[in-house]
Amino acid sequence: MRPKFHVKKDDTVMVLTGKDKGKTGKILKVIPKKMRVIVEGVNIVKKHQKPTQANPEGGIITKEAPIHVSNVLLFCPKCAKGVRTKKKIEGDKKVRVCVKCGNEFD
Ligand SMILES: [Zn+2]
Repeated sequence: MRPKFHVKKDDTVMVLTGKDKGKTGKILKVIPKKMRVIVEGVNIVKKHQKPTQANPEGGIITKEAPIHVSNVLLFCPKCAKGVRTKKKIEGDKKVRVCVKCGNEFD
């Protein structure tokens, strides 16, 4: 069974906790098994990289580390903040709508 996510790849979300609280970014990757997402520009960590053939110097690279999906909410441009969504059936497809203003996301 696939876990239910309230967000998906390419969604813009707002971060609720941690050092990047209040930041918004686009979801680059969803990791269903770990219930985590990678959000562009959020939870940046530095990693030491061993020298490789392509990069003989090695060095420090920065990259986004995954954060738990419960720490983000879908960003509603009308409300200008992270919001909860509900499902709405439109014809034969489901759309997510903002519980506050009714903005449709899909
Ligand atoms: Zn809204």
